[in-house]
Amino acid sequence: MSEPDETRVNGQLFTCPACGNHMLEEVMVDVTQSANIVDVVGDAEAADPEYSATVSDGGVLDRIQCLYCGHVVVSDEDGPDLFERLTVLAKDWTQPVSEES
Ligand SMILES: [Zn+2]
Repeated sequence: MSEPDETRVNGQLFTCPACGNHMLEEVMVDVTQSANIVDVVGDAEAADPEYSATVSDGGVLDRIQCLYCGHVVVSDEDGPDLFERLTVLAKDWTQPVSEES
């Protein structure tokens, strides 16, 4: 039903220092995306396509950031190994006291 809304790196829960949420997203640039069109409803003024599968091709990983506020955690400006640097950063993340498993 609901999608997971937290990111773990080597088991460490990400907590955004700016907004306190826990979900990271990767942002890619220069991507070519194609999508299967399954249905189109509309007229000459407005039309609304419905898609099934989407495929992304190419692209460069630009940054990894907070899903909610856009706080950039690692950026391509600092070097290409974003996920490797993320694992290094995660060593300093502490689990929230209130978390229950
Ligand atoms: Zn945030």
